[in-house]
Amino acid sequence: MTEYSVSRATFDDVMVPNYAPQKVVPVRGKGSRIWDQEGKEYIDFAGGIAVNALGHCHPELVKNLKSQADKLWHLSNVYTNEPALALAQALTEVCFAEKVFFCNSGTEANEAAFKLVRKYAYDHTGPEKHEIISFNSSFHGRSLFAVTVGGQPKYCEGYAPVPAGVTHLPFNDVEALKAAISDKTCAIVLEPIQGEGGVIPATPEFLQAARELCDQHNALLVFDEVQTGVGRTGEFYAYMNTGVVPDILTTAKSLGGGFPVGAMLTTTEVANSFGFGSHGSTYGGNALACSVALAAITLINDDQLLANVSGKHQLFRRELESINDEFGVFTEIRGKGLLIGAELTPEWHGKGKEFLAAAAEEGLMMLVAGPNVLRMAPSLIIPDDDIRQGMAALKRAVAKIVQN
Ligand SMILES: *Cc1c(COP(=O)(O)O)cnc(C)c1O
Repeated sequence: MTEYSVSRATFDDVMVPNYAPQKVVPVRGKGSRIWDQEGKEYIDFAGGIAVNALGHCHPELVKNLKSQADKLWHLSNVYTNEPALALAQALTEVCFAEKVFFCNSGTEANEAAFKLVRKYAYDHTGPEKHEIISFNSSFHGRSLFAVTVGGQPKYCEGYAPVPAGVTHLPFNDVEALKAAISDKTCAIVLEPIQGEGGVIPATPEFLQAARELCDQHNALLVFDEVQTGVGRTGEFYAYMNTGVVPDILTTAKSLGGGFPVGAMLTTTEVANSFGFGSHGSTYGGNALACSVALAAITLINDDQLLANVSGKHQLFRRELESINDEFGVFTEIRGKGLLIGAELTPEWHGKGKEFLAAAAEEGLMMLVAGPNVLRMAPSLIIPDDDIRQGMAALKRAVAKIVQN
């Protein structure tokens, strides 16, 4: 094989410019640590955007990937396979769902969900029942249907015409929801905690109202748990301590622990509207992906691990509060488990990216959620010591920015 000599500059030469990655190129990861081409070490609070739930190169996942790699990678859905069946069985055991559809990403899981809610209404009521209600600042992925249902107009700009029949309402506004829902509504779609939109938790009353209104109007409730799912909040799925059960749940990101895989989970009754030939995916249920995902969720669905997530949340919160006591840069620290947002004070609005770059300089990788919120979504098993060291790096970064 040809050896290519590549660097960050290569990105600008050969990549479509839809991303603007940080200056360095990571080459290796272990647990919650990463090393770049120069050998510089980083603590990872980004977790590949809530994906590397067991850190980098977890030995169990590596072992599983390697052993499946010697057996069988891919068949397509003309045949089924053991890892896909086992993963589906495990997912139906761990949550409300009775049926599983596999795909490769969060977007695709949502695409399946949005098509299914329309199809279910079409089958049971008729084509006029097709309206989807979603919420401002929500995020559901980047396909045309997903950006249309998503509540961030900037992601639709330039792509019109977009699919019709989608209404956006203010998040956590029960009265607005009551006023907007009708018998033409086929589904309400929401994230239990809006991730990309700024780490904004749904209120318990809002979730309860969404459930009741769906029941009254014969609409389906869809929870997009692509970011909140698979242990992220300290529950296996975030819905589990809300008292509200959705009809459809979409899951991806942490599901594969870093291997691309997504799934749409639902009940048998709803699943029946996806009859033979109604939807599909060549890669969905890929044996290699499902094998890694099964190993990942087996490790994550562990009472001790999940309890530790809440403990680590407290440590993050304390450390962020102590940075804030000194520098006063945050208005609020919010989120649940290891999905944490720190909103910047108005003085620093629009400057999230600067904090990210300064943190990288100090050896810390983290995320933003919009221009005003610093976001952290690390490995669920990040050692407490890595949290403290990462926070020390963040403190140095904040000090540099504030003192400039
Ligand atoms: C990341 C994300 C998606 C999109 O997932 P992809 O794997 O990037 O397609 C959808 N919904 C939510 C809530 C997400 O956080």
